[in-house]
Amino acid sequence: MDLLEYQGKQFFASFGIPVSPGEAATTVEDAVAAAERIGYPVVIKAQVHVGGRGKAGGVKLAANVDEAREHAGNILGLDIKGHVVKTVWVEFASDIAEEYYASFTLDRSAKKHLGMLSAQGGVEIEAVAETDPDAIAKIWIDPVDGLDEATARTWVEAAKLNPAATDGAVDILLKLYRAYTEGDADLCEINPLILKPTGEVHALDAKVTLDGNAQFRHEGWEAFEATQVRDEREQAAHDKGLQYVGLDGTVGVIANGAGLAMSTVDIVNQVGGKPANFLDIGGGANAEVMAGALEVINNDPNVKSIFINIFGGITKGDEVANGIVTALGRVKIDAPIVIRIDGTNAEQGREILAAHESEMLQSKPTMLEAARVAVELAAK
Ligand code: GDP
Ligand code: MN
Repeated sequence: MDLLEYQGKQFFASFGIPVSPGEAATTVEDAVAAAERIGYPVVIKAQVHVGGRGKAGGVKLAANVDEAREHAGNILGLDIKGHVVKTVWVEFASDIAEEYYASFTLDRSAKKHLGMLSAQGGVEIEAVAETDPDAIAKIWIDPVDGLDEATARTWVEAAKLNPAATDGAVDILLKLYRAYTEGDADLCEINPLILKPTGEVHALDAKVTLDGNAQFRHEGWEAFEATQVRDEREQAAHDKGLQYVGLDGTVGVIANGAGLAMSTVDIVNQVGGKPANFLDIGGGANAEVMAGALEVINNDPNVKSIFINIFGGITKGDEVANGIVTALGRVKIDAPIVIRIDGTNAEQGREILAAHESEMLQSKPTMLEAARVAVELAAK
């Protein structure tokens, strides 16, 4: 779950990381009123789930009420890389002496957390990585050991920040690491992390990705969840509790288990088709769940055929087959369906499906065969 900047700053502030005081607003009037309360100069910032807002005209300084009104008016409704700005964040503008970069994320191949710190902030870190990789000081942190102050200090020194920033940076990095680990984040990035002329270090931007699977542990995340933007298909699937990712092909995919769903997407590609989605219905493939999944797939106008791929384990093949038949009675499906059932009680499951076989519903014994037929049907 990606947070908007102002939500990321709320998240940071709850771990004691210094951020500027500010307010979110959805109308020009509210933004102006916020600016008046905060006092000038303010910076008005587009709140969208995409970076590079500054370059796109989504971050503007305002020295007085007229400028605040003008900038808020220009930024609200602005299209930044396909994201239309509905909310602005108005905060007290900071004086900047230097801009740095700091982040924590997971390095899966190293099985460690990766911290990156650079004296070259405010620009895209990918660009720094390309032109001047030595300008990024990296540390790999064993999650069992964590990050202690001495290590953080050595790391800050390696990044060659202004010595005036050392204490402030060490303090923020320790807090950022806590936010990242205890806060169940997959990414915590501050770009720029600034040194003010007065010597304070401060987070001027916030990019946070939270691990959605940890939501049950965090009541405060409900407000973050409410502003998530999903495409229509993804929203419908999310409302039904399905694990769905929209893709741009024509073969709708339903499978039980994330691994099988991924293999199904792969095999559709392998036989020359293009999957319209990834959809994992999980362990309990009952009629209710199956009907919900079919509804979501059926509402996607790109879908020309549907491939249901089920491996019966604890869920038995005959129960799944009955579930599919019941679901088909409930949902009117426009695209032909190809089903492969294997595993526990597969034979019984196939018999049940055979009794309902038609042009719109066929069952194939292997995954490869089913994929071929589904792709053929999608091409018609
Ligand atoms: P991004 O472009 O989406 O990453 O948005 P940022 O929040 O990082 O802002 C982009 C740039 O705007 C920063 O690197 C700063 O140079 C500038 N900026 C943002 N906030 C302030 C502020 O409070 N004061 C000043 N002087 N500049 C700011
Ligand atoms: Mn930034």
